[in-house]
Amino acid sequence: MTTEAHKEGPVEIAPMDEFNQQLVNNVHPSAWVNPEPTGRYNLVIIGAGTAGLVTAAVAAAVGAKVALIERHLMGGDCLNVGCVPSKGIIRASRVWAEVKNAAEFGLHIPDGIKTDFGTAMARMRKLRARISHVDSAHRYKDLGVDIFIGDGRFTGPGTVEVAGKPLQFAKAVICTGARAAAPPISGLEGTGYLTNETIFSLTELPPRLAVIGAGPIGCEMAQSFTRFGSKVCLFEQTDHILPREDADAAEIVQHQMAKDGQCFVFNSSITHVESRGHEKVVHFDQGGEHKELVVDEILVGIGRAPNVEGLGMETVGVEYDTRSGVKVNVKLQTTNPKIYAAGDICFPFKFTHTADAMAQIVIQNALFPHPFGLGYASTDSLIIPWATYTEPEIAHVGLYETEAKDKGIEVDTFTYTLDEVDRAILDGEDEGFARVHVKKGTDKILGATIVAAHAGDMISEFTLAMKGGLGLSTITGTIHPYPTQAEVIKKVANAWRKTTFTEGKKKLLSKLFTFMR
Ligand SMILES: Cc1cc2nc3c(=O)[nH]c(=O)nc-3n(C[C@H](O)[C@H](O)[C@H](O)COP(=O)(O)OP(=O)(O)OC[C@H]3O[C@@H](n4cnc5c(N)ncnc54)[C@H](O)[C@@H]3O)c2cc1C
Repeated sequence: MTTEAHKEGPVEIAPMDEFNQQLVNNVHPSAWVNPEPTGRYNLVIIGAGTAGLVTAAVAAAVGAKVALIERHLMGGDCLNVGCVPSKGIIRASRVWAEVKNAAEFGLHIPDGIKTDFGTAMARMRKLRARISHVDSAHRYKDLGVDIFIGDGRFTGPGTVEVAGKPLQFAKAVICTGARAAAPPISGLEGTGYLTNETIFSLTELPPRLAVIGAGPIGCEMAQSFTRFGSKVCLFEQTDHILPREDADAAEIVQHQMAKDGQCFVFNSSITHVESRGHEKVVHFDQGGEHKELVVDEILVGIGRAPNVEGLGMETVGVEYDTRSGVKVNVKLQTTNPKIYAAGDICFPFKFTHTADAMAQIVIQNALFPHPFGLGYASTDSLIIPWATYTEPEIAHVGLYETEAKDKGIEVDTFTYTLDEVDRAILDGEDEGFARVHVKKGTDKILGATIVAAHAGDMISEFTLAMKGGLGLSTITGTIHPYPTQAEVIKKVANAWRKTTFTEGKKKLLSKLFTFMR
């Protein structure tokens, strides 16, 4: 039975065209009527981003009574202002770059080529709207989940309130994610800036764009907007992009970005920003000198803050920190054992696929606890890959060499470059490599990095090997189709294999062959 419509007004996502209207109809329908809560839920989940959606869908599929609360847009960051729109525009910008560089392939573009940023953005909105069906309120209702639109807040032990209704729970899950948080740069608020929450609403290309922070979001957007034709300047405090990745891996991407026409300001510190007429001025220190850059827009690509406010966590004894989020143990239990958390709200690895993996852990521990508390699913067992979707992409899983050193783990490292892989040469995508770290003297894979056009797709071979306890000897014995860029993985494994064939072994075999003649 349903009772009342939620109290908020209709949600608007600029530009409110047919695609964004379709998106809103799916993920925050204006005519939505919250159900009347009846009895106690097995799970009440606050936040319908990836973590909340996956938890709700799996719990409902196994027969649990589930309530899912969302105050803004179901699908959360990933669908609405993260992975989906960013990869949509990255695809468009790659096409623009390929066409611009097509002369090598015999395709000569006449001068005065017509470009239309608005069409590229409309394509992204159209595809986002299409994908949004999967996260829609109606689909989840059909899956058997009670969808409540409104702010969720703990009001007492075993109770969450939403839109004036108390929901009773046996277990609850906090999946409220994180939001963009600008660095404390003087003048930024007054001058105005873009974040991932606003950049995907642009319909006109900013002619000049300053991007603050050369992490994954900053680099993906800087490269895309450069390729669309903006004059983009990327500001970074360190001396190269993607500081978390191996320096030589980041260097390859940086080289490509520079070829695209990207400007970088490294070792810089932004002192303040200001408006000057219609323009924005970024003031920064670099090499002891004070400089300024005039732009049309500023994109802040760094800083995430967990959504911990207003949840009433104090009422139910859930501890949290305004920087690192909700405190959880390896079972993803908060300091209140009946309340769990999953996703960006509680985990340093802020990715959609980790939010998904954490949802599975919560289901296991909250709904299927072992009778004696012995067997439980743990975040300790997660093997987490990630990728930055620049061109080329950088993907990584497991340990970096420096991390292994810090942990006192001895490793052997093997690197194979793409300029020796036929398919990469033929594709004109031969700047990159596959690198693997194994436990010293063994073939046990501890970590890997790939730099390649589709490194994000390729890293799964290493991830699967690590998860399945398969070593490099299994990869060397696996047939890879020729010619593919993924052959680089077999070739790097072969590089390890060669080291196992020592001079001593060779001499012994020579003697054997002499005897056999
Ligand atoms: C620009 C960008 C690009 C990205 N690209 C990738 C990528 O390519 N690959 C990848 O793996 N990850 C990517 N990410 C990260 C990914 O988007 C997040 O890790 C993922 O969305 C986290 O999911 P979540 O469920 O934890 O949180 P969220 O998606 O943030 O969802 C939390 C939800 O909770 C709701 N909420 C908050 N408080 C309340 C409340 N009190 N009551 C009710 N509802 C509430 C929010 O409205 C939100 O919908 C990207 C992020 C950004 C910003």
